[in-house]
Amino acid sequence: MTNSPSDALSDERGGMPSASGIESLFLCKGKFLAEKGLPDIEYSESSEGTIRHALAEMDMPADEIDDPERARAVTNAKLAVMELKGKTIQGEGYLLKEQRMWLRDSKGVPFLSGKPDYVEIVPQYKRALIVDYKMLYGEHSPAHANPQLFTLAALVMQENKSIQECYIALVTPLLEPLYSVSMLDRETVKAWAGKLHNLSKAIQNPNAPRVAGAKQCKYCRALPFCPEARQLLNETMDKTIEEISKDPDELGKAYALAAMYEKFAASVKATVRTKLKEDPDSVEGYKLGRGLKIASYDTQKALEVLRDRDFDIEEMDKFVKLQERNLIKAWAEKTGLTMAKAKTQLRDIMKAHNAVEVKESTARILKHTPKKED
Ligand code: SF4
Repeated sequence: MTNSPSDALSDERGGMPSASGIESLFLCKGKFLAEKGLPDIEYSESSEGTIRHALAEMDMPADEIDDPERARAVTNAKLAVMELKGKTIQGEGYLLKEQRMWLRDSKGVPFLSGKPDYVEIVPQYKRALIVDYKMLYGEHSPAHANPQLFTLAALVMQENKSIQECYIALVTPLLEPLYSVSMLDRETVKAWAGKLHNLSKAIQNPNAPRVAGAKQCKYCRALPFCPEARQLLNETMDKTIEEISKDPDELGKAYALAAMYEKFAASVKATVRTKLKEDPDSVEGYKLGRGLKIASYDTQKALEVLRDRDFDIEEMDKFVKLQERNLIKAWAEKTGLTMAKAKTQLRDIMKAHNAVEVKESTARILKHTPKKED
């Protein structure tokens, strides 16, 4: 777990902590040094999150997004921001999107950075709205208790001294509610910046304690090597599923750790893959196979090529896979129905012709925090 000299140079964060990881660092101060020098682990869901962020940032129209869940995430994120603007800054301002900012100490030395997904500043009202998108399902701290958003507020307010009201919003476009929002004043944000400065010093201490927990360990690069994380996993592994199932509390805790087991397994696989890429003899008993070359065609252009080569409509029909979203849009345009009604009607008609099969997908397990009156 040592630092490599190229770390600071290759890392756009300059080897310093960033807002997105701040909650984890408060929970485990030893994480910062434990992760140094370890390669990033590519998890499939984080790449999916990155794609959805990019689509939202590009303001991509939903009907140009092929994947329905991606389209829903982007559409709902846009709706949430529109609603938030009306409820908070109440005016048109200028935008800062995905711009890295630095938090500096009293001498002007940077010690932390962050890249907000969306910032809108309305100078005439001295207000700012900061939005962080969480484009996947999962467990997220609401705005009023979200260290990442507090940190982004510190960055935005330090760079823009005139802002007096800073609204922070967590947008979760696939969950209910769609967003949570809170307002911070300069004093609160200044006090938070002080905490961040203390944290930035504490995490540089080689004796900073490592404290394992589902939230901070889940995406930690040190997870496969960390004794504290392994000890936590072993506590659950010591019990059988029958023992755990008897107690709802135990079962909830075990479920929270399940993601950590998956990450542990994924980290081991990713580490083995990386090592085998660097040195084919580095993992006893395993080698890398050859990757498949996967082609993806542009349907419109490919059909044109086939047409030019005397493929007739019947032959080409066999290659075309209908996408429900496009069909619904076309049906809505043809019938004048709303998208929701067009979907129901289209499905009914297709069902009557045995042209569609509608199956229920497996329900997701979501975080549920009972309200006080429950
Ligand atoms: S795996 Fe968990 S306990 Fe270990 S350093 Fe990372 S966050 Fe801390």
